[in-house]
Amino acid sequence: MDNNMPVISAKNLNLWYGDFKALKGISLDVGEREITALIGPSGCGKSTFLRCLNRLEIPTGGSIKFEGVEVDDDHIDSVRQKMGMVFQHFNLFPHKTVLQNITMAPVTLKKKTAAAAKEQAMALLERIGLADKANEFPNMLSGGQKQRIAIVRALAMDPEVMLFDEPTSALDPEMVGEVLDLMRDLAKEGMTMAVVTHEMGFAREVADRVVFMADGKILEEGVPEELFDRPKDPRLQDFLSKVL
Ligand code: ADP
Ligand code: MG
Repeated sequence: MDNNMPVISAKNLNLWYGDFKALKGISLDVGEREITALIGPSGCGKSTFLRCLNRLEIPTGGSIKFEGVEVDDDHIDSVRQKMGMVFQHFNLFPHKTVLQNITMAPVTLKKKTAAAAKEQAMALLERIGLADKANEFPNMLSGGQKQRIAIVRALAMDPEVMLFDEPTSALDPEMVGEVLDLMRDLAKEGMTMAVVTHEMGFAREVADRVVFMADGKILEEGVPEELFDRPKDPRLQDFLSKVL
């Protein structure tokens, strides 16, 4: 692969819900090992954009490439295997144990043997200190534990990119730290990540680049110091005055 090729390249993405324009010409590249934080007011299109990247939403116009390959119906299965996604509300399967949650996709989609998938799942659970929860059901876990399991479930597919949509927004405050710590570790290990977040401290510390969206558009992007300390766009200035 061309080393300069972005992992994800979105060009002039549009998404309309009927007459309502949720995305109005979003163009964004995510480079290998780059951590991109997406910030902006509620309803500005952050989730919609992230969901377009793995085709949970189908753009009305524009193009998305993953490692140079068009993300369309023909290629989406292979793209999804390389893109892990973590949601605000965890989305664990409630009737499956923690271990089953983690091993299911590797076995069915990646054709790993049950034994290999279990071994990997247990190693991931060890890593986050939750090996003793392997045979529990999700409703026995705290929000922070559920979200960390959702993250390792995505990691079990050996993704090349991780997409996070407000992974800490549904958590009680005392559990935010454990999830951000795990994400920080992934970033340090060189995972390519796009993170929609309201955690400005995390964005400043971990992101290579911060992208500010409002009203379906990218209004400003830059390195964290620049964007947080010297915001240019008045809407970004206003947004930061409310969240910082
Ligand atoms: P954010 O994640 O930034 O809060 P979203 O991407 O969820 O924003 O939503 C962007 C806009 O699109 C919002 O105004 C939302 O109400 C609208 N929207 C999202 N999904 C749908 C849908 N399925 N049908 C109609 N409008 C939608
Ligand atoms: Mg959202």
